[in-house]
Amino acid sequence: LIVLENVNKWFGPLHVLDDVNLSVARGEVVVVIGPSGSGKSTLCRAINRLEPINSGTITFDGVPLPAEGRALARLRSEVGMVFQSFNLFAHKTILQNVMIGPVKVRKEKSVEVHDRAMALLERVGIANQADKYPAQLSGGQQQRVAIARALAMQPKAMLFDEPTSALDPEMVGEVLDVMTSLAREGMTMVVVTHEMGFARHAAKRVVFMADGQLVEEAPPAEFFASPKSDRAKDFLSKIL
Ligand code: ATP
Ligand code: MG
Repeated sequence: LIVLENVNKWFGPLHVLDDVNLSVARGEVVVVIGPSGSGKSTLCRAINRLEPINSGTITFDGVPLPAEGRALARLRSEVGMVFQSFNLFAHKTILQNVMIGPVKVRKEKSVEVHDRAMALLERVGIANQADKYPAQLSGGQQQRVAIARALAMQPKAMLFDEPTSALDPEMVGEVLDVMTSLAREGMTMVVVTHEMGFARHAAKRVVFMADGQLVEEAPPAEFFASPKSDRAKDFLSKIL
């Protein structure tokens, strides 16, 4: 579904994506880990073209990423993204936050979107908060709204960039539970996270990045039991 071939990206002299090759099959869950500054966020942002690349190709569903216009807007709706900061609209209710994409961007009828939005809020366990404003919710609840909002666009894939890093520890589990159930239902997911429990249980593959390169990739059981590269060994020794 997502294919990156020989992707390179520089920020000035800094080579942040160094000849990256990665393909993510439909329904596959890939967890990306690596030290700070290794290019994980840039990789995610490149996949829905929040960040243009300097060379190489990225295709989504068989089509090279569009650079602009309606095709780009469609890509962004097909590839949902959830960030560390929840980025909800503060002056809109939870329900309005979930409905706004389909109604404004996709011009769908409010009546239909309403039912879908409520079903999604139900699914992430906060339907009873639909009429509240983001500031009235906990961080974990806000992040679940952000997931529901992305799902409201009926995406073909979801990108998560450290979705639990800004949360108090007791709220991490409720967000990971939603992500785990999405994974079980067959959503194609690329997840940057430091939650190794999630990687072990939900990922099909773990990809380790360092200095802009994909250093190694393997199924989680294999990766955690016997990382091959020194960099991965060193990284794991620090976080586990
Ligand atoms: P972290 O774990 O800290 O989130 P990361 O792996 O997500 O790190 P990136 O955010 O992708 O890393 O950044 C990769 C490198 O590119 C870093 O050295 C960062 O400072 C640099 N960088 C990121 N965005 C920009 C930008 N807009 N302009 C210049 N340099 C940038
Ligand atoms: Mg990052």
